[in-house]
Amino acid sequence: MTTSVAENLMELNKKISASCERVGRDIKDINIIAVTKYVSINRAKEACDSGIFHLGENYEEGILNKHQELNNKVNWHFIGSLQTRKVKNIIDIVDYIHSLDRLSLAKEINKRASKEVKCFIQVNVSGEASKHGISPDELVSFIKMLEEFSFIKIVGLMTMAPFTDDKAVIRACFRKLKELQNNVQALSLPFAPCQELSMGMSNDFEIAVEEGATFLRIGTSLVGKEF
Ligand SMILES: *Cc1c(COP(=O)(O)O)cnc(C)c1O
Repeated sequence: MTTSVAENLMELNKKISASCERVGRDIKDINIIAVTKYVSINRAKEACDSGIFHLGENYEEGILNKHQELNNKVNWHFIGSLQTRKVKNIIDIVDYIHSLDRLSLAKEINKRASKEVKCFIQVNVSGEASKHGISPDELVSFIKMLEEFSFIKIVGLMTMAPFTDDKAVIRACFRKLKELQNNVQALSLPFAPCQELSMGMSNDFEIAVEEGATFLRIGTSLVGKEF
Protein backbone atom coordinates (compact mmCIF):
# COMPACT_ATOMS: atom_id res chain seq x y z
CA MET A 1 0.00 0.00 0.00
CA THR A 2 1.19 3.48 -0.80
CA THR A 3 1.61 5.95 2.02
CA SER A 4 -0.38 9.13 1.58
CA VAL A 5 1.47 12.27 0.58
CA ALA A 6 0.14 13.93 3.73
CA GLU A 7 1.79 11.28 5.91
CA ASN A 8 5.06 11.49 3.99
CA LEU A 9 4.96 15.26 4.26
CA MET A 10 4.52 15.06 8.01
CA GLU A 11 7.57 12.80 8.32
CA LEU A 12 9.54 15.04 6.01
CA ASN A 13 8.63 18.16 7.96
CA LYS A 14 9.74 16.50 11.21
CA LYS A 15 13.15 15.80 9.73
CA ILE A 16 13.46 19.26 8.18
CA SER A 17 12.48 20.78 11.48
CA ALA A 18 15.15 18.76 13.32
CA SER A 19 17.78 19.86 10.79
CA CYS A 20 16.70 23.47 11.17
CA GLU A 21 16.99 23.20 14.92
CA ARG A 22 20.51 21.81 14.68
CA VAL A 23 21.73 24.91 12.87
CA GLY A 24 19.33 27.57 14.15
CA ARG A 25 17.29 28.06 10.99
CA ASP A 26 13.60 28.89 10.66
CA ILE A 27 11.60 26.18 8.90
CA LYS A 28 9.55 28.92 7.23
CA ASP A 29 12.55 29.66 5.05
CA ILE A 30 12.47 26.16 3.54
CA ASN A 31 10.27 25.50 0.52
CA ILE A 32 9.46 21.97 -0.55
CA ILE A 33 9.14 21.24 -4.24
CA ALA A 34 7.32 17.96 -4.81
CA VAL A 35 9.08 16.36 -7.77
CA THR A 36 6.39 14.50 -9.67
CA LYS A 37 8.31 13.06 -12.61
CA TYR A 38 7.71 9.46 -11.47
CA VAL A 39 4.05 9.82 -10.54
CA SER A 40 0.63 10.29 -12.07
CA ILE A 41 -1.42 13.45 -12.29
CA ASN A 42 -3.62 12.11 -9.47
CA ARG A 43 -0.69 11.75 -7.16
CA ALA A 44 0.47 15.26 -8.04
CA LYS A 45 -3.05 16.46 -7.27
CA GLU A 46 -2.88 14.70 -3.92
CA ALA A 47 0.33 16.57 -3.18
CA CYS A 48 -1.36 19.90 -3.90
CA ASP A 49 -4.26 18.94 -1.63
CA SER A 50 -1.81 18.06 1.13
CA GLY A 51 -0.32 21.50 1.44
CA ILE A 52 2.37 21.44 -1.25
CA PHE A 53 2.77 24.78 -3.04
CA HIS A 54 5.51 23.86 -5.49
CA LEU A 55 5.63 21.13 -8.12
CA GLY A 56 8.76 20.19 -10.05
CA GLU A 57 9.08 18.32 -13.34
CA ASN A 58 12.08 17.35 -15.47
CA TYR A 59 10.39 16.85 -18.78
CA GLU A 60 8.36 19.00 -21.11
CA GLU A 61 5.63 16.41 -21.48
CA GLY A 62 5.26 15.92 -17.75
CA ILE A 63 4.94 19.57 -16.96
CA LEU A 64 2.52 20.25 -19.81
CA ASN A 65 0.22 17.34 -18.89
CA LYS A 66 0.14 18.09 -15.21
CA HIS A 67 -0.24 21.81 -15.69
CA GLN A 68 -3.26 21.23 -17.90
CA GLU A 69 -5.01 19.28 -15.13
CA LEU A 70 -3.85 21.16 -12.06
CA ASN A 71 -3.60 24.58 -13.59
CA ASN A 72 -2.08 27.38 -11.60
CA LYS A 73 -2.93 26.28 -8.09
CA VAL A 74 0.79 25.83 -7.46
CA ASN A 75 4.14 27.19 -8.56
CA TRP A 76 5.69 25.25 -11.44
CA HIS A 77 9.37 24.45 -11.41
CA PHE A 78 11.25 23.10 -14.40
CA ILE A 79 14.16 21.25 -12.80
CA GLY A 80 15.54 19.07 -15.59
CA SER A 81 18.06 19.94 -18.23
CA LEU A 82 16.32 22.14 -20.76
CA GLN A 83 16.88 21.90 -24.48
CA THR A 84 16.89 25.30 -26.11
CA ARG A 85 14.31 24.29 -28.71
CA LYS A 86 11.83 23.31 -25.97
CA VAL A 87 11.85 26.65 -24.19
CA LYS A 88 8.96 28.01 -26.23
CA ASN A 89 6.72 25.12 -25.21
CA ILE A 90 7.07 25.56 -21.48
CA ILE A 91 7.91 29.21 -20.99
CA ASP A 92 4.35 30.39 -20.40
CA ILE A 93 3.59 27.88 -17.68
CA VAL A 94 6.76 27.75 -15.62
CA ASP A 95 7.36 30.02 -12.65
CA TYR A 96 10.94 28.86 -12.04
CA ILE A 97 13.65 27.30 -14.19
CA HIS A 98 16.36 25.55 -12.18
CA SER A 99 18.71 24.57 -14.97
CA LEU A 100 20.02 27.73 -16.58
CA ASP A 101 23.59 26.83 -17.48
CA ARG A 102 24.50 28.43 -20.78
CA LEU A 103 24.21 31.68 -22.66
CA SER A 104 22.27 30.23 -25.59
CA LEU A 105 19.57 29.06 -23.17
CA ALA A 106 19.38 32.46 -21.47
CA LYS A 107 19.02 34.09 -24.86
CA GLU A 108 16.15 31.81 -25.84
CA ILE A 109 14.35 32.21 -22.50
CA ASN A 110 14.56 35.95 -22.83
CA LYS A 111 13.37 35.86 -26.42
CA ARG A 112 10.30 33.72 -25.65
CA ALA A 113 9.31 35.19 -22.28
CA SER A 114 6.53 37.70 -21.92
CA LYS A 115 7.06 38.22 -18.20
CA GLU A 116 9.88 37.88 -15.71
CA VAL A 117 11.21 34.31 -15.41
CA LYS A 118 12.78 33.32 -12.13
CA CYS A 119 15.91 31.30 -12.87
CA PHE A 120 18.37 29.32 -10.85
CA ILE A 121 21.79 28.86 -12.33
CA GLN A 122 22.77 25.23 -12.21
CA VAL A 123 26.30 24.80 -10.99
CA ASN A 124 28.29 21.62 -11.42
CA VAL A 125 30.02 21.86 -8.07
CA SER A 126 31.24 18.28 -8.00
CA GLY A 127 32.74 18.53 -11.48
CA GLU A 128 31.38 15.13 -12.53
CA ALA A 129 31.34 14.87 -16.30
CA SER A 130 27.86 13.35 -16.24
CA LYS A 131 26.35 16.42 -14.61
CA HIS A 132 24.97 19.52 -16.24
CA GLY A 133 25.76 22.96 -14.97
CA ILE A 134 28.48 25.52 -15.30
CA SER A 135 31.70 25.21 -13.39
CA PRO A 136 32.16 27.24 -10.19
CA ASP A 137 35.03 29.15 -11.82
CA GLU A 138 32.79 30.43 -14.59
CA LEU A 139 29.84 31.42 -12.43
CA VAL A 140 30.53 35.09 -11.83
CA SER A 141 31.49 35.90 -15.40
CA PHE A 142 28.44 33.99 -16.64
CA ILE A 143 26.10 35.91 -14.37
CA LYS A 144 27.52 39.24 -15.47
CA MET A 145 26.68 38.34 -19.06
CA LEU A 146 23.01 37.93 -18.16
CA GLU A 147 22.40 41.59 -17.48
CA GLU A 148 21.18 42.25 -21.01
CA PHE A 149 18.34 39.75 -20.70
CA SER A 150 15.63 41.86 -19.14
CA PHE A 151 13.14 39.05 -18.50
CA ILE A 152 15.60 36.91 -16.58
CA LYS A 153 15.87 37.21 -12.82
CA ILE A 154 18.55 35.15 -11.14
CA VAL A 155 16.86 34.14 -7.92
CA GLY A 156 19.44 31.60 -6.86
CA LEU A 157 21.81 28.73 -7.51
CA MET A 158 21.01 25.06 -7.96
CA THR A 159 23.13 21.97 -7.69
CA MET A 160 22.91 18.20 -7.48
CA ALA A 161 25.22 16.49 -5.03
CA PRO A 162 27.43 13.68 -6.31
CA PHE A 163 25.92 10.23 -6.16
CA THR A 164 27.65 8.85 -3.07
CA ASP A 165 27.01 7.66 0.47
CA ASP A 166 29.84 9.81 1.75
CA LYS A 167 28.04 12.52 3.70
CA ALA A 168 31.17 14.64 3.98
CA VAL A 169 31.42 14.83 0.20
CA ILE A 170 27.76 15.81 -0.11
CA ARG A 171 28.11 18.43 2.60
CA ALA A 172 31.19 19.92 0.96
CA CYS A 173 29.25 20.24 -2.28
CA PHE A 174 26.35 22.11 -0.65
CA ARG A 175 28.71 24.27 1.37
CA LYS A 176 30.51 25.28 -1.81
CA LEU A 177 27.22 26.33 -3.41
CA LYS A 178 26.49 28.53 -0.39
CA GLU A 179 29.94 30.08 -0.73
CA LEU A 180 29.30 30.78 -4.42
CA GLN A 181 25.98 32.39 -3.50
CA ASN A 182 27.82 34.71 -1.12
CA ASN A 183 30.16 35.67 -3.95
CA VAL A 184 27.25 36.49 -6.26
CA GLN A 185 25.39 38.45 -3.60
CA ALA A 186 28.52 40.51 -2.95
CA LEU A 187 28.21 41.82 -6.52
CA SER A 188 24.84 43.44 -5.64
CA LEU A 189 23.48 42.99 -9.14
CA PRO A 190 19.83 44.07 -9.37
CA PHE A 191 19.00 41.28 -11.84
CA ALA A 192 20.71 38.65 -9.68
CA PRO A 193 19.65 38.93 -6.03
CA CYS A 194 20.47 35.24 -5.74
CA GLN A 195 18.71 34.83 -2.41
CA GLU A 196 17.73 31.17 -2.89
CA LEU A 197 19.57 27.85 -2.91
CA SER A 198 17.95 24.89 -4.67
CA MET A 199 19.66 21.82 -3.26
CA GLY A 200 18.72 18.62 -1.45
CA MET A 201 16.77 15.59 -2.70
CA SER A 202 15.22 12.57 -0.97
CA ASN A 203 18.48 11.16 0.31
CA ASP A 204 20.43 14.31 1.16
CA PHE A 205 17.91 17.02 2.09
CA GLU A 206 18.86 17.07 5.76
CA ILE A 207 22.44 18.00 4.93
CA ALA A 208 21.14 20.55 2.41
CA VAL A 209 18.97 22.22 5.05
CA GLU A 210 21.91 22.39 7.42
CA GLU A 211 24.00 24.03 4.70
CA GLY A 212 21.46 26.69 3.73
CA ALA A 213 19.00 25.25 1.18
CA THR A 214 15.81 27.26 0.68
CA PHE A 215 14.25 25.02 -1.98
CA LEU A 216 14.35 21.24 -1.54
CA ARG A 217 13.49 19.08 -4.55
CA ILE A 218 11.89 15.95 -3.14
CA GLY A 219 10.46 13.15 -5.25
CA THR A 220 10.65 9.58 -4.00
CA SER A 221 10.27 10.15 -0.27
CA LEU A 222 7.33 12.51 -0.68
CA VAL A 223 5.17 11.38 -3.59
CA GLY A 224 6.85 8.02 -4.24
CA LYS A 225 7.63 6.38 -7.52
CA GLU A 226 4.86 4.85 -9.66
CA PHE A 227 6.74 4.52 -12.92
C1 LIG B 1 14.34 13.48 -9.81
C2 LIG B 1 14.98 14.71 -9.32
C3 LIG B 1 14.83 15.11 -7.98
C4 LIG B 1 14.10 14.29 -6.94
O1 LIG B 1 14.80 13.12 -6.65
P1 LIG B 1 14.38 12.14 -5.45
O2 LIG B 1 15.65 11.43 -5.13
O3 LIG B 1 13.34 11.23 -6.00
O4 LIG B 1 13.90 12.96 -4.32
C5 LIG B 1 15.40 16.33 -7.61
N1 LIG B 1 16.08 17.09 -8.49
C6 LIG B 1 16.24 16.73 -9.77
C7 LIG B 1 17.00 17.63 -10.69
C8 LIG B 1 15.71 15.52 -10.23
O5 LIG B 1 15.91 15.18 -11.49
